[in-house]
Amino acid sequence: MPRYSDELIEEVRQTNDIVDVISQYVHLKRSGRNYFGLCPFHNEKSPSFSVSPDKQIFHCFGCGVGGNVYTFLMKIEGISFIEAVQSLAERANIQLPTLENNVDTAKEILKSKVLKVNEIAANFYHENLYLPESKIAQDYIKKRKLTNETLKAFKIGYSGKFDELYHKLKKEGFEDTEILESGLVNKNDKGQYIDRYRNRLMFPICDARGKVIAFGGRVLDDSKPKYINSPENIAYSKGRNLFGLNVAKKQGHLKQLLIVEGYMDVISLHQRGITNVVAPLRNSTNSGTRMVT
Ligand SMILES: [Zn+2]
Repeated sequence: MPRYSDELIEEVRQTNDIVDVISQYVHLKRSGRNYFGLCPFHNEKSPSFSVSPDKQIFHCFGCGVGGNVYTFLMKIEGISFIEAVQSLAERANIQLPTLENNVDTAKEILKSKVLKVNEIAANFYHENLYLPESKIAQDYIKKRKLTNETLKAFKIGYSGKFDELYHKLKKEGFEDTEILESGLVNKNDKGQYIDRYRNRLMFPICDARGKVIAFGGRVLDDSKPKYINSPENIAYSKGRNLFGLNVAKKQGHLKQLLIVEGYMDVISLHQRGITNVVAPLRNSTNSGTRMVT
């Protein structure tokens, strides 16, 4: 397993104050030397979750979880130790070295390329939505009464019609293998590269950190299927993510989320001021609405 040096791990840990990091997820109040808040890992009404700025650790007297800033991030985001180091290094503007060359590193590099492809694609789709030739998508948006603010918050977009995204990505310097891994472009029997999403309204799916990991695409005519979702890949696993979580998180909701069925439900509720809503990415058999805490 490749790993970062102990010194670097320590430097990244020390540069990220645990109170600052946890405050992004939990509302903390100072009491004496420590901070207290409602534990994000179990359901409670009075705060038993404590954070010590002196020791740079957290501990919950209710459920017993505890650890340092890395432990917290791994637990709350469901990420690996290496991902926690990378995330906190990015937060503190610390440049990490490339891990020694081996299979894991190649995987990490491909994953970061795919995330970059997704980011560029999301911007491409979003800008495309405002072009005169995207009238069909604009008409749908008008019909659903989505405001510009909503379009921006969810970075809703409109795909190309044939291979526009592929050419855009080639122009940005990506390799075919990286583009294919993203699942946004397919190669047909004749060796042609064709965009997976054509003539569709595009919904970027983000992880809790706000990185675009996949897309949902809705048809704008009567063709089937109504929705296409990105295939699982190196950067995306359906079970681990929820549509709208990054937006709900920005509003400070994490304790109580309302689960609804589809992307458009999340978006329309959000526009009506109900912002703690998310939708599952799997083809869920449960329909309707339920509460989770
Ligand atoms: Zn707890």
